[in-house]
Amino acid sequence: MQLSNIYLHFKEHPIIVTDTRKVVSNSIFFALKGENFNGNKFAKAAIEKGCEYAIVDEKEYAVDSRFILVADVLTTLQHLAREHRRQLNIPILAITGTNGKTTTKELVHEVLSRKFKTVATIGNFNNHIGVPLTLLSMNEETEFGIVEMGANHPGEIRQLCEIAEPNYGMITNVGKAHLEGFGSFEGVINTKKELYDFLLTNGGKVFVHSDNHYLTEMMSGQDFISYGNSEDAFSKAKFLQAEPYLVLEIRSVVGKLYIKTKLVGAYNFENALAAVTVGRYFKIDEIEIKEALEQYVPSNNRSQLKQTEKNILFLDAYNANPTSMRAAIENFAGMSRKNKVLILGDMLELGADAQKEHLDLLNLIKERELKSVFLVGDIFSEVNVEEKFKTFKSASDLVVELDKTELRDQYILIKGSRGIRLEQIIEKL
Ligand code: ATP
Ligand code: MG
Repeated sequence: MQLSNIYLHFKEHPIIVTDTRKVVSNSIFFALKGENFNGNKFAKAAIEKGCEYAIVDEKEYAVDSRFILVADVLTTLQHLAREHRRQLNIPILAITGTNGKTTTKELVHEVLSRKFKTVATIGNFNNHIGVPLTLLSMNEETEFGIVEMGANHPGEIRQLCEIAEPNYGMITNVGKAHLEGFGSFEGVINTKKELYDFLLTNGGKVFVHSDNHYLTEMMSGQDFISYGNSEDAFSKAKFLQAEPYLVLEIRSVVGKLYIKTKLVGAYNFENALAAVTVGRYFKIDEIEIKEALEQYVPSNNRSQLKQTEKNILFLDAYNANPTSMRAAIENFAGMSRKNKVLILGDMLELGADAQKEHLDLLNLIKERELKSVFLVGDIFSEVNVEEKFKTFKSASDLVVELDKTELRDQYILIKGSRGIRLEQIIEKL
């Protein structure tokens, strides 16, 4: 049977599953392969658990008509997603960038949901599998799609655009991350630019943060919808404060509106403004935009403020790269509180630049006169030769230290790459 005909057998839009533990009725199992697993081996179990069909790419597993043999399951998933996206015929906004993709996506989702039935990427599911699955989770009722696109090597954003065929796009910013895969910062810029290139060649529209010269240079000579401080920007807002939570001011037809978010970190201003801009462009009432932004509460250790019995934690252990580390440290250093403690974990995946980038951060910490600092990881341990700061090989070593010396009444920033697993120390704080 042709895969495109399978859909005809479903009364309702089928659910796509790739994990047998998540099988539901009315679903199709896609037997994806990973480094350590072969989905084909689970196809039979998926059918037994109630999937209507299983898509496999190894002949021996296609035992009856409920198993559909294709050349490659992943490519099939991607093709099906594109086909589905075309049939939906709805506007899709793609969001990529080095930092703030998920936060911006969630904020834009809150805003657009005020007017449209909107489906957005769940969590951080932003790669060659996550993007097709996001598209396939949209159905006839969906009026607007938001797709987060992540990349760690050149060509990836182009490929994701060819699947999602966005009509609108936004690059939150460009910075140093995944340098190992991109080769250089130039590589980062060129890869993000693939989104603009796709939109420009296909008649799409681009939202550009006009205070970011990397982004305006990429768009030089082209029309775009701008947000930022420049005189002629389509959308503006005023940063009021970020202590502890971000507050911004927008001017609306009814006068000034103060948006009091639940986001910490001044760097979230550009993410919030991006969401305001999309809302304004799609003519969503400004009061609704304000309410939408105020309602959003971040999760998953992504710039969260947490009051424990002993301390106040500024939890940012979700990820880290030189740009977001710098933004977080600057923001923290600028806060008027006393008793500040910085707990930083290594930034991973930086390749040959790793040592230099970590050293630069140590210099920033010294410049900003942050005194109470704990560093965690092999790279920090290597570069901290002056031994000015306490260094630990791993988060569990720091846990041991915190058992000995308790921290109390401190304001603590915790940030590092996910691989350093700094979340382990939270219960000690
Ligand atoms: P990923 O690459 O993991 O998908 P992301 O781009 O989706 O990350 P978010 O999850 O929104 O980014 O935010 C992760 C962290 O990045 C935040 O906790 C914060 O430290 C930092 N960050 C968010 N927005 C910005 C920004 N505009 N500029 C600098 N750093 C930011
Ligand atoms: Mg993300």
